[in-house]
Amino acid sequence: MNKNNAIRVRFAPSPTGYLHVGGLRTALFNYLYAQKTNGKSILRIEDTDKGRFVPGAKEDLMNTLKLLGLSYDEGPDNEGEFGPYVQSARTEIYRKFAHELVERGKAYYCFCSKDRLDKVRKEQREKNQTPMYDGKCRNLSEDEVKEKLGEDTPFVIRLKFPKEGKTVFYDKIRGKVEFNNSEVDDQILMKADGYPTYHLANVVDDHLMKISHVIRGEEWITSVPKHIFLYESFGWDLPKFVHLPLLLNPDKSKLSKRQGDVAVEKYLEKGYLPEAMINFIALLGWHAAGDREIYSLKELEKEFSLNRISKSGAVFDLEKFQWMNGQYMKKLDLDYISEKTEKYFTDAKIDISDGEKYRKVVENGRKRASTLAGIIEHSTMFYEDLQFTDEDLKILSDEKAQKIFSFWADALKNADNLSLQKINDLVKQSQKELEIRGKDFYIPLRLVLFGNCHGPDIPTIVDILGKEMTIGRLKKYL
Ligand code: GLU
Repeated sequence: MNKNNAIRVRFAPSPTGYLHVGGLRTALFNYLYAQKTNGKSILRIEDTDKGRFVPGAKEDLMNTLKLLGLSYDEGPDNEGEFGPYVQSARTEIYRKFAHELVERGKAYYCFCSKDRLDKVRKEQREKNQTPMYDGKCRNLSEDEVKEKLGEDTPFVIRLKFPKEGKTVFYDKIRGKVEFNNSEVDDQILMKADGYPTYHLANVVDDHLMKISHVIRGEEWITSVPKHIFLYESFGWDLPKFVHLPLLLNPDKSKLSKRQGDVAVEKYLEKGYLPEAMINFIALLGWHAAGDREIYSLKELEKEFSLNRISKSGAVFDLEKFQWMNGQYMKKLDLDYISEKTEKYFTDAKIDISDGEKYRKVVENGRKRASTLAGIIEHSTMFYEDLQFTDEDLKILSDEKAQKIFSFWADALKNADNLSLQKINDLVKQSQKELEIRGKDFYIPLRLVLFGNCHGPDIPTIVDILGKEMTIGRLKKYL
């Protein structure tokens, strides 16, 4: 099916070395909107801040998006007709537009030194004013500018933002939004190194790449007046603005590293599943018509709508994420879960060469853990020698316990192909014949086989351990 070229959205991350969960939410909502409307989604790398360059960050970011299943129609590794899609490869374009703005009288050269700007800001802070450029170079004459340029004085280009009036715009989620122009700074558009700032590059690219909807986090809404001024100064049409609600910590403060991880990669490393990650992130600020919470990416593509995005901040609730991940761990294909869990076993130096046993171990662990990594703590006892306390040893050496162990060791020795059903029968039979039931039966047996009085039922434990290992554990304490 041909895509609708009238709807073009973009995810425009700055590659900082990791994907912030808020960034993923932006990427996901853009993706979903494009899918829903049959529009196009674009990945654009905003890497013009040389001070923040992190080698490999762009590739890592694209890998993370791929892993999560978020594809795009155009991007650095999938060039469309509006490339390049990496801003550092477009600096000539921005330079040209910055100078064009100067010619149009909408921007100006500023020759102020860093020392002067620091001093101005310091004075403003002392007077309790918002730090802003004081406009010293705003009205330099043409001759003054020529002279400075002739002397090779370093310069930046600043936006000549109107000092009076208001900027009013419509945001799809916030509705009508107003800013007093006097509160907007004469933003630097081009830095002394000839690189653009975010504002210039972002607007120029959104225009050149024919972006129809700017969908991004609410922290960018204060930039909109500057952007609108840029669009209008160039005589370009405005895109539609869609600012997604802030992400909050459980205490309603702005989501921060201090209260937990914010890097998507960290969650994936810990064994949160991509499917759960997508589902959880989708519900940060968006909800479907009913109260259903579990959605695959495919289902979200159908259900998603901008109309169901809320205004109020969305709490990043880790407990809910854990619950949701647990749901996916139980529900997804066992082979898939087993494969994804392998590396945690390898890291824990557990030999999983017995594939059949490993599958059973994962099947048991995935019902109990909330992350893939968490499966390990429900699994080591099936592989490693058990450790017992003096208290445990007392239980194991009890007369009744010994009777159970000896019964089981004999019965298993004579049994061939142990099925769950057979082990179940053995549980019943041994209780009956030995006349030991309830706690007296289960506590010692589970302890000797599993190293803990609590845990899976006996048939599951024996089934995982297999005949040899079960007999070995029983005999060791006989
Ligand atoms: N590069 C900005 C960021 O890092 C993009 C903001 C926007 O979408 O306009 O989030």
